[in-house]
Amino acid sequence: MASELPNLTVSAPESEAVRPSNFIRDIIIQDIQDGKNGGRVHTRFPPEPNGYLHIGHAKSICLNFGLAKEFAGKCNLRFDDTNPSKEETEYVDSIIEDVRWLGFDWEDRMFYASDYFGQLYKWAVQLIEQGQAYVCDLTAEQIRESRGTTTEPGKESPFRNRTVKENLELFERMRAGEFPDGARTLRTKIDMASPNFNMRDPILYRILHAEHHRTGNAWCIYPMYDFAHGESDSIEGITHSICTLEFEDHRPLYDWYVENLGIHHPQQIEFDRLNLTNTMLSKRKLLQLVQQGCVSGWDDPRMPTLSGLRRRGYSPEAIRQFCGTIGLSKTNGVIEYALLEHCLREDLNKRAARVMAVLDPLKVVIDNYPADLVEEMEAENNPADPAMGNRKVPFSKVLYIERDDFREDPPKQFFRLSPGREVRLRYGYLVTCTSVVKDEAGEIVEVHCTYDPATRGGNTPDGRKVKSTIHWVSAAHALDFEARLYESLFVASAEDDLELNPKSLEVRPTAKIEPSVQGVKSGGYYQFERVGYFCVDKDATAEKPVFNRTVGLRDSFAKVMKGSAPAVK
Ligand code: ATP
Ligand code: MG
Repeated sequence: MASELPNLTVSAPESEAVRPSNFIRDIIIQDIQDGKNGGRVHTRFPPEPNGYLHIGHAKSICLNFGLAKEFAGKCNLRFDDTNPSKEETEYVDSIIEDVRWLGFDWEDRMFYASDYFGQLYKWAVQLIEQGQAYVCDLTAEQIRESRGTTTEPGKESPFRNRTVKENLELFERMRAGEFPDGARTLRTKIDMASPNFNMRDPILYRILHAEHHRTGNAWCIYPMYDFAHGESDSIEGITHSICTLEFEDHRPLYDWYVENLGIHHPQQIEFDRLNLTNTMLSKRKLLQLVQQGCVSGWDDPRMPTLSGLRRRGYSPEAIRQFCGTIGLSKTNGVIEYALLEHCLREDLNKRAARVMAVLDPLKVVIDNYPADLVEEMEAENNPADPAMGNRKVPFSKVLYIERDDFREDPPKQFFRLSPGREVRLRYGYLVTCTSVVKDEAGEIVEVHCTYDPATRGGNTPDGRKVKSTIHWVSAAHALDFEARLYESLFVASAEDDLELNPKSLEVRPTAKIEPSVQGVKSGGYYQFERVGYFCVDKDATAEKPVFNRTVGLRDSFAKVMKGSAPAVK
């Protein structure tokens, strides 16, 4: 029956609790039904601590921790720290902070691949003893050259048939530090003619005389990621080893290792990496932006890192909602950035406290308002949530409005303030513009109005209509603040590449905000009425509040999807 068909139109995301299924979830449900792994579900999030996490990692975090939670399982946090030259404790700390902030808990299961270096070494020795690994004297360059092509098999190394005894001795000497970096490697003996390059005698261990952030100088040989990763999963008893599609071709190798070592065999399942329009999601490239000074740091509010998004004013709920909405696929695609912003607005609309702020102030004098009168106007903190209560906003003779909200010579569709026109000041009064004052350069510096005392609170007892409601602050009470407005860090170039957007940051140093925000130093979600969602930046001080614009109010995504105009006054 038609009425029972699922609703396939894309609409606002569902609540976090009700989500459509995905193929990984379906596999897990089946595995539980089949009693596989004794019905256990154990996943992990395995970042390499070589940079800060980005929104792509959030997809993996929500997936791994989310599945464990849903099926009463466990999810480990594991640092894949096999590469000593690139990893730093700063990154470890930031990753811990970001996963926690997203709302997930690994309890007492925080691990490091480096914890397993001893075990991995023993397993390498086991493979040598089984005749399945050998010490190779070829240089990295020579190994690359002998790998063959997609149409031609690789060449076997002349060192491939060393005896077990010789291999054991050489590997021990590699470990003892007798050889310089790159002089030798330990390689797996699999199949140089395999159609899968990963199976053409991949390297297990390399010599690297480098200090490791955790093991110090204990080791001068380090396991390759492909060896350490699957084995770490096995050690931790991971049941479902969920990773991105580029590891699909590595799966046969991971399977080969656990089978030949005779150890627990996690099931690897691949899903699509998150890509976002006009966004770079690669720690390596993001590091370049930081190093080259294109941004102020990893947490620059324009960065797609979790720390950048947090500083920008994203809520963890919005990011989780986004990750649930995009779903999973077996092919890589690109998600519209506007969808992320849509999820953000849906969340902030419920969460954000409304305040009035003026980014580009224009002075308004109400000539018939008493000079010494200050009225406390009642304003709603969030029309979408009456529980958030009301606040008082001071109203007085001299106000600021947005320069944009006034035109001396208004075009046809302009209904805001202009000479002779009456508008409503939100929560204030109805005012009519009577004249303007200009400076020598001809720029308007002051707008004069009269107000109608019968319209307190913005009400019109006689039922008369005004076409526009604008926001304002009282000049004597407003706080000065700095507003930072952001646009995409990148724009598409002619070559369809990304290039830095020169307009990605605009600072408004002379903005004005109502006094209710006095003293807020950090955190909090705000909606500046008619202007956008904002949050307090960490640069804010008691003397100088600084606010970041998180996102504007206009939701292009909702508009496209619902075919209707966005609900913006
Ligand atoms: P990057 O290229 O940004 O360094 P990575 O894959 O090398 O990413 P890891 O630290 O190895 O980063 O990633 C940890 C986990 O996060 C992995 O399981 C990886 O598959 C996943 N992940 C990384 N980037 C994305 C992405 N864009 N979308 C979904 N998952 C991702
Ligand atoms: Mg990586």
